[in-house]
Amino acid sequence: MTTSVTAAVVHDGDDDFRFETVELDDLRSDEVLIRMEASGICYTDVEGKNMLARPAVLGHEGTGIIEKTGSDTSRLKIGDRVVMAFGWCGDCPNCVSGKIYICDHNIAINFDGKRLDGSSTIKLNGQAISGAFFQQSSFASKSICLERDLVKVSGKHAPEMLAALPCGVMTGAGAILNSLKVQAGESLVVFGVGAVGQSAVMAGKLVGAYPIIAVDINDNRLEMAKTLGASHTINSAKEDMLRRIKDILPRGSHFSFDTTGNEKILNTAIDCLAMGGHCGIVNAPDNEIPILATNRLFSRAAHLRSIYLGSSVPGRFIPKLIRLNQEGLFPYERLITTYKFEDINLAMSDLISGKSIKPVLEML
Ligand SMILES: [Zn+2]
Ligand SMILES: [Zn+2]
Repeated sequence: MTTSVTAAVVHDGDDDFRFETVELDDLRSDEVLIRMEASGICYTDVEGKNMLARPAVLGHEGTGIIEKTGSDTSRLKIGDRVVMAFGWCGDCPNCVSGKIYICDHNIAINFDGKRLDGSSTIKLNGQAISGAFFQQSSFASKSICLERDLVKVSGKHAPEMLAALPCGVMTGAGAILNSLKVQAGESLVVFGVGAVGQSAVMAGKLVGAYPIIAVDINDNRLEMAKTLGASHTINSAKEDMLRRIKDILPRGSHFSFDTTGNEKILNTAIDCLAMGGHCGIVNAPDNEIPILATNRLFSRAAHLRSIYLGSSVPGRFIPKLIRLNQEGLFPYERLITTYKFEDINLAMSDLISGKSIKPVLEML
């Protein structure tokens, strides 16, 4: 029996979401039905509007309560509160060895808008539409999710705090802690301090990186980065960013991290490295960035690393981030602005304008 729910749907020819009643498919044996409490909005939702066939239901940072479980689920039960993380297949060599963030099917399972078997989880007026974004499509009052993607959390945490974690914040913190493994006393330059970049700054501060240089074009975001741990800030719209970085770090930086997906910025993130330095990059899968001649990398014996999801295993990493936050060491609540679900279009435009760093929708 299908379940009728309210979803924010994006249609052809209109970038605003419209609220519609949609039908969720029957649960597969390894899926659960979740009553949504909150959903973060990440820049990938902005990009997702053009990556999925429309009509589409987006949203990939859900948190909620399990309302129904599939016949082969056993780890979680009805009434459990969960954070919904990214999709992974569970069968490929990377998943089997625990590197679920680089599942062989990462792109298909998270960005194709359907289950891996090609079926749709959502119908609008009887027609299948794009859903299952990151195997959740959390911009809805209820959502179908694979049991293996879920992280069980305590009921005592505020839903908006939980929903801010599973993509951008986890990716930024994970890039520093899990992927690049920055150590105390090593230098770090973070390009773009939206939610991913601010989380990288906080993680850099946590491990004792120094200096931590934040680069952005928005003075408010740079001010925020300063309060979260950046030792230096550079407004790249007003200053020569490479010259400023070289003034601070004449040998270059041990690490750089580009969150912008911008050609000039990525190339600067490579040029600012010291010999043997490491540049991490996060980017949308369909955004092509030309890289400078490889001799610029080679002449520095530098490393360029694509980072997926902060090399995070959410079942381990999300509880760790919650604990660090409770100890005051990872104050990501400073990034959050909450919005009612019905104000999703305002939340999206505030994210794009930079007014809000981490918008979170309250679905209740
Ligand atoms: Zn896999
Ligand atoms: Zn995301």
